[in-house]
Amino acid sequence: MSGYLAIVGLGPGDERYVTREAEDALASADALFGYGAYLDRVPPRPGQARHASDNREEGARADAALRHAAAGGRAAIVSGGDPGVFAMAASVCEAIEHGPEAFRALDIAIVPGITAMLAVAARAGAPLGHDFCALSLSDNLKPWELIERRLDAAADAGFVIALYNPASAARPSGIRDAFALLRGLKPATTPVVIARAIGRPDEHIAIETLASAHPDRTDMSTLIIVGSNATRIIPRNNAVPFVYTPRRAG
Ligand code: SAH
Repeated sequence: MSGYLAIVGLGPGDERYVTREAEDALASADALFGYGAYLDRVPPRPGQARHASDNREEGARADAALRHAAAGGRAAIVSGGDPGVFAMAASVCEAIEHGPEAFRALDIAIVPGITAMLAVAARAGAPLGHDFCALSLSDNLKPWELIERRLDAAADAGFVIALYNPASAARPSGIRDAFALLRGLKPATTPVVIARAIGRPDEHIAIETLASAHPDRTDMSTLIIVGSNATRIIPRNNAVPFVYTPRRAG
C-alpha cells in the first residue's frame, strides 16, 4: 500500500483563513504531525493520531511523518501560514533528499496557506504593491552577518522588506540590530508596519516610521514590514492609516 503525506498551511490564525483544500487534507489524514500550537488549531477527529513536537524539531518531525507515509499511512504535517515560507515544506524536502529511496516514491502534496506577510499587508493597505522581499531574522540556520548583508542589499535595491522571526529565541536583540542598521540606510520617515498575531483574538497592528518603531514591541508572533523610499502613509479618520507602495517606480 502506498502512503500519502500532505504538508498543510493553516494560514495566520483565524479558521476562516484555512482553505477548503487544507480542510480536505486534514480530514483525510490518519495522523497529524506539527508544532503543538499549530496542532491545537485543528479540531480533534476520532481515530486521528496527533504527534506534537517542539518548533526546533522540524527535521525529526519531517522524518517521522515521512516514515508514517512510507509505512502506508496517511500523514499530514501542519504549518502556520504557508508551509513553503520558512516552514515545513523545505524540511520535508531536506528529509527526502537525504533520506531512504522509499521517500521519493511517496505521494506528497503541499497545500498552500496565506502567509503572515500577506495577511499583514492586507490589514495595512498595500505595502507590497511594488517590488518586495522577505527575510527571516532568525539566525538558527544562518549567520547573523548574512542577515545584515541581505538587509543592506535589500535596502540598497529599494525593496519593501518583510521581516519574519523578529525575536528569535537565539537572538532576541535581532530586530533591534536590524532597525539600527536600516536607520543608517534609509530615511527616518520610512513607514514601518508592526503587526502581532494577525488573524487571532489578540491581533494588534501599529503603523510607525523607522524613527518611532520600537523593537521591544515585537515577539515571535510579530511580522514587520519596512517600506521602501516610495512607501507612503495615508491618514484616515477613525481607522488605521493606509500604508501603500505605489505601483510605478523609476
Ligand atoms: N510559515 C509561516 C511563517 C513561519 S516563521 C507563514 O507562512 O506565515 C514564524 C514567523 O511568522 C513569526 O515569527 C512571525 O514573524 C510570522 N507570523 C506567523 N504568524 C503570524 C501572525 N498571525 N501575525 C503576525 N506574524 C506572524
